[in-house]
Amino acid sequence: MKILLSNDDGVHAAGLSALQEALSDLGELTVVAPEREQSATSHSVTLHQPLRARKVREGVFAIDGTPTDCVLLAVRGLPGLIQCQPDLVVSGINHGPNLGDDVTYSGTVAAAFEAHLLGIPAVAISFLGEPDRLEAASRTARLMLRQILARDVPRDLLLNVNVPDLPFDELAGFRVVPLGKRVYTDVVVERQDPRGRPYYWIGGQPTWNPDEDTDMTAISAGYVSVTPLHLQLTHAPMLATMGEWELSLSNDEP
Ligand code: MN
Repeated sequence: MKILLSNDDGVHAAGLSALQEALSDLGELTVVAPEREQSATSHSVTLHQPLRARKVREGVFAIDGTPTDCVLLAVRGLPGLIQCQPDLVVSGINHGPNLGDDVTYSGTVAAAFEAHLLGIPAVAISFLGEPDRLEAASRTARLMLRQILARDVPRDLLLNVNVPDLPFDELAGFRVVPLGKRVYTDVVVERQDPRGRPYYWIGGQPTWNPDEDTDMTAISAGYVSVTPLHLQLTHAPMLATMGEWELSLSNDEP
């Protein structure tokens, strides 16, 4: 089993090292990660500047691009540098949550998306606590991947996993749940710069509906949330509805 590890917090992130250590005997590991932090870069790919790859140490490589660049280059292979042809891609352990709608911003999850698009099973793992408390998350990652690898892993397996900030013994277990709907309040903060001009900072505290059985409610109840994802973005009901609208290039009247 060849496993490619990546992340969006950068090649020197504690979560990536913890993941590498936790999975060290589950397969042949190769780490290809961004040279610098790339959180919230989503699924961006670098097309307008060259990319440099650097061997950090044996089996660990840094690329001065995004998580997507890392997975793409690692899977395609860099002659003389990286030849890993992974059977599985694991991204993380991210420093911070990737829950609900925020998955669309996540570089951690985008690395898994890229693997998925390349036909490789992928798991993204995020931890809600500080990077100096990664033990529960790395033990969880190891336990989960051992159980996944014991099966015939489907090629289209794409998982988003979040581990709550609890000691391992206090985790309630795994919950397989859909992504939640995140609602932000006070999203944009307006302040003034020293020259009196306004600037804006995106932030705000998220809330969610506690009645829904989602990754957010699972996490808040002490469970590790596991959400199978796919990249079929077409909205089937709207596809059917709009098919009846008879949009036309030859009709001037609304
Ligand atoms: Mn991150």
